[in-house]
Amino acid sequence: MEPYELSVTEALDQLSAKTLSSVELTQSCLDRINRTEKSISAFITIDSEQALHQAHEADRKRTQGSGGSLCGVPVSVKDLMCTKGVKTTCGSKILENFIPPYDATVVEKLQEQGAVIVGKAAMDEFAMGSTSENCAFGTPANPWNVDYIAGGSSGGSAASVAAGQVLGSLGSDTGGSIRQPASLCGIVGMKPTYGRVSRYGLVAFASSLDQIGPLTRDVTDCAVMMEVISGYDRRDSTSVDLPVEDYRAFLVDGLDGVRVGVPREYFGEGLDPEVNRVVMNGVEVLKSAGAEIVDVSIPHVNYCVAVYYLIAPAEASSNLARYDGVAYGLRDSGNDDLFEMYKETRSRGFGPEVKRRILIGTYALSSGYYDAYYKKASQVRTLILNDFKKAWESCDLLVSPVTPTPAWKIGEKVDDPLAMYLSDIFTLSTNLAGLPGLSVPGGFSENGLPIGIQLQGMHFQEGALLRCGYNLEKGLNLERKIPSL
Ligand code: GLN
Repeated sequence: MEPYELSVTEALDQLSAKTLSSVELTQSCLDRINRTEKSISAFITIDSEQALHQAHEADRKRTQGSGGSLCGVPVSVKDLMCTKGVKTTCGSKILENFIPPYDATVVEKLQEQGAVIVGKAAMDEFAMGSTSENCAFGTPANPWNVDYIAGGSSGGSAASVAAGQVLGSLGSDTGGSIRQPASLCGIVGMKPTYGRVSRYGLVAFASSLDQIGPLTRDVTDCAVMMEVISGYDRRDSTSVDLPVEDYRAFLVDGLDGVRVGVPREYFGEGLDPEVNRVVMNGVEVLKSAGAEIVDVSIPHVNYCVAVYYLIAPAEASSNLARYDGVAYGLRDSGNDDLFEMYKETRSRGFGPEVKRRILIGTYALSSGYYDAYYKKASQVRTLILNDFKKAWESCDLLVSPVTPTPAWKIGEKVDDPLAMYLSDIFTLSTNLAGLPGLSVPGGFSENGLPIGIQLQGMHFQEGALLRCGYNLEKGLNLERKIPSL
């Protein structure tokens, strides 16, 4: 086994046993990037020099007996988390040359624990999309078949982990952007409870929905990374002051006493039979592990697409107002007139999907329409949350598909935004209700593309999700494989 193929946990074992150095491991990842990046395009920025420097530091600290819980482990970070001195583009031309003067809290936390940040991962512009095709700097490919999408918006994060370029990654999830690419690329992805992880230094898309989380090769690695990034941060007023749990302590065999709900609305029309087969097989595995399976209902799930695609663009239209060519980013300098300058900068800097969202969002918030759209959507959002509260009376967590289909071909849905939005149907409710969600590899389609299984849990019950995910992973016993490429 090559070092780049190790899980985070396996690598940490070898690093602490001194049978592997971080420089060797990092070099193995960088070589892998060199060999595969042409076909995968997972990165917007690769900083090999800094990575090797951090690896040397990690080795030095280890020799001294210090170094944190990710000491020497190469990771990637989605290109919308600020990295001091390193370009942070959000996949957008408008921030093509933006170099943040500070680090996001999660980046600080990775560094404190000794992680080696290899580069910034490709993504849909401002995290708007489901395929990463809205990235201004190239579309990441699915490592299992490079003609297919890696998913989005954290497509570069998922592809880099699945392709063996790094051992783990951080993504962000506003409506599914961690879980969906994780599912399509055959890896694990967690969207934590809203408020569990600090958003300080995360470029905002929809502030009431955004949350940062890990993408990893297995559930144990996910628990390790969750321990690193979680926690209260006074610089994010929406972060919650609850102690960070020892997530690895939840990874125990068996699910006796756990009630797993199967929400019937998630298994209706439009669900690909192969996805249905994989998820139902997962349900059987949970049952054999001791879980009690119960039938539950989330009646308002069909409104999620409509509600999300009003609330998220509304918040985005307000968050993206700051890119006006004045404070930072692209500026059209050919104009003396201030308003012309704004207009030209924004017309040139934003791609079509971002423009579409700004238009929808501004419209939904405008006087005369606010009550009919934004306010109504917010009311239905509460109904969706209430559905989950009701479900928790009879179960502890929910199992469902992550996406209605496996990955589709690059280019297949680019001209059909509505079809693209509809593919998010199963992940949006988690964000609208602020819940934690986990995607675990469940199996493969007939043509060899990965299919994930989603678990949704109660607020701040990440531990319960990880326990269930761990048992699912064990029971399914899929080979952890990195495609040869
Ligand atoms: N696909 C959804 C969208 O386009 C979700 C994106 C996300 O979670 N960042 O908005």
